[in-house]
Amino acid sequence: MGGISETCSVCGTGFEVQFRYQMEEKDGGFSFFCSQKCLEKSQLGGDGGASLATCDACAKRFSPQLVSQVLYVAGRRNYACSLECRAQLVREAKGVRLGDIAAAASAARARLREDRAAGRGAACDPPRCAVRGGRGPRCRGDG
Ligand SMILES: [Zn+2]
Ligand SMILES: [Zn+2]
Repeated sequence: MGGISETCSVCGTGFEVQFRYQMEEKDGGFSFFCSQKCLEKSQLGGDGGASLATCDACAKRFSPQLVSQVLYVAGRRNYACSLECRAQLVREAKGVRLGDIAAAASAARARLREDRAAGRGAACDPPRCAVRGGRGPRCRGDG
């Protein structure tokens, strides 16, 4: 499996993208990180926290100091200025995910119902029962 050759957005080193964290979607494009260290550097705004981030929960501008102030929601970077804001983002992220899971689960359930209905009909199809070797009576009882 050949990786994608990219240039690190932080230190400019050429490298092959092998891990999910090494590629990050940003508004209008992608950022690439050769290592966790460069990713961290980008998350924390470089040396001395030169660049400010915006809290995704309360929209406050702050300069991130800790990696724990950065979290990923659906593959996108989010900043949280405080523990409360982080908790809020996590809650929202879970809410989104739970909603998705619920929708997927109900779709799967509906599919399962259809499959079962179709399967039962096929199993009790007389020619098929005969092919299965005398299991006809059991199939009939099943329905
Ligand atoms: Zn780098
Ligand atoms: Zn905040």
